[in-house]
Amino acid sequence: MIYHPVLLSAKPSVMTSSIAAIPAPITSAANAEVKRLRSLHERKYRRQTGWFLAEGTRICTEAAALGWEMHRLAFLAGRENDKHVRSLLGALGEAGGRALPMTESLLQRISRKDNPQMVLGAFAQRHIGLADIHPDPSDIWVALDRVRDPGNLGTIMRTIDATGARGLILIDDCTDPYSVEAVRASMGAVFNVAIASCSQPEFLAFASDWPGRILGTALPASADYRTAAYDGPLIVMMGNEQAGLPDPLMQICTQLIRMPMRGRSDSLNLAVATGVALYEAVRNRD
Ligand code: SAM
Repeated sequence: MIYHPVLLSAKPSVMTSSIAAIPAPITSAANAEVKRLRSLHERKYRRQTGWFLAEGTRICTEAAALGWEMHRLAFLAGRENDKHVRSLLGALGEAGGRALPMTESLLQRISRKDNPQMVLGAFAQRHIGLADIHPDPSDIWVALDRVRDPGNLGTIMRTIDATGARGLILIDDCTDPYSVEAVRASMGAVFNVAIASCSQPEFLAFASDWPGRILGTALPASADYRTAAYDGPLIVMMGNEQAGLPDPLMQICTQLIRMPMRGRSDSLNLAVATGVALYEAVRNRD
């Protein structure tokens, strides 16, 4: 989890010079800004706008502090003098974004939650290309093949952040890392994880030039994950929730590893398996 107490306690006066203008509160669900923010639950509109929703004061403050471009800040009308909201309005003003005070029921409509956060931000997505990945010996990347569950993806982003890994490579048709569900499950880690997406052939070409290890996690693997080497620039590769890793991806791995299954379950949850592999990598490097 990302937490900067210093930022949360920042004095409002720090940013008052460019604080975003505060219009009259929005009270109608027919308001175009409300509709636009609500549409960000759909991938089609996230693609069209390049925006995504983040919820909560702490997470939005963290995102702004990390330099993420904030386009809109929806907040509970009357809270503009709350020190955290004022600090966010300062960041919004700097970015040229729009402040949207509104009723609680509209915040609820946008978040589709019964107890919405007092603050919702719309931020610009960031995507890197495989060509932007310049492996350093200390780097760990996680490659996910066709991950489908946004909760798994968000949890994996949170674990990547927690272990100090560099980022995520999404192979083929994956669930959207900027969906509301994935962002929620990431608990703000989405703002601290580099994200690249590619097709399987693009990944195979990239992997053929990768200067370090590629450890594939696969149930049929014979090597116990505790016996593997995790040094150098490392890619930990994880398979789809139902199908696991396909042959072409398994074949480019320098090693395939498995976590022993001692009970009746035949596999671990994808996010749990990723956590086990990442913490083993970190333990080996400490
Ligand atoms: N039926 C799938 C299969 O046969 O691979 C199960 C997929 S599992 C739910 C999703 C992914 O989590 C796997 O592709 C692998 O990357 C990882 N995984 C889960 N349990 C694992 C284990 N015990 N050892 C290694 N990887 C595991």
